[in-house]
Amino acid sequence: MRMLEDRIREQGLILSDTVLKVDSFLNHQVDTALALEIGKELAGRFADKPITKVLTIEASGIQFAMAAGIALNVPFVYAKKKKAITQSEQAYSASVHSFTKQETYQVTVSKSYLGPGDKVLIVDDFLATGAALVGLVQIVNESGAELVGVSCVIEKGFQEGRGLLEQMNVSVQSLATITRMAPGEIEFAEPVKE
Ligand code: 5GP
Repeated sequence: MRMLEDRIREQGLILSDTVLKVDSFLNHQVDTALALEIGKELAGRFADKPITKVLTIEASGIQFAMAAGIALNVPFVYAKKKKAITQSEQAYSASVHSFTKQETYQVTVSKSYLGPGDKVLIVDDFLATGAALVGLVQIVNESGAELVGVSCVIEKGFQEGRGLLEQMNVSVQSLATITRMAPGEIEFAEPVKE
């Protein structure tokens, strides 16, 4: 997505060869017009599939899941991060290790909001190690819903996330795929045909 790559080049801060900060426009302060465009594109990548629900994980996926949900005219659900000890028996849960925060936590989704009959598009801001998205895929599988695919805003293609998801036979789309970065330098994969 050209508009997104341009903004990353202009306003992204490359903190190291693995961490990109985009919190001036994507995931702390949010450019709402851009988020809505991103939502249309995230949904559009799976336009040929019937989708009944969008699923993400708090907090940084929420604005994009909402935008994709608006584009598809379906609800979105966000998995909550919760300690195992407080976990409700009425929830699906998965264990996730956070790449940016370097901690492991439980994510949960109420059984009331996901189940057999749902066709789910998973959305998130970043695909990095894949831990967060693998956790969401496990939750969808546990719920008996059908997973349509995973649509991400930014993929760090040099990390293992895509490989893990593809091993689970998950169809993955990303709007901007970074092939290499270092402070002051960033390279994107050739854009897929839009
Ligand atoms: P993963 O589980 O794929 O490693 O990434 C989980 C979450 O970590 C993403 O949803 C995102 O919120 C955060 N994350 C991973 N890599 C980056 C990064 O380079 N920059 C930012 N801002 N967040 C990241």
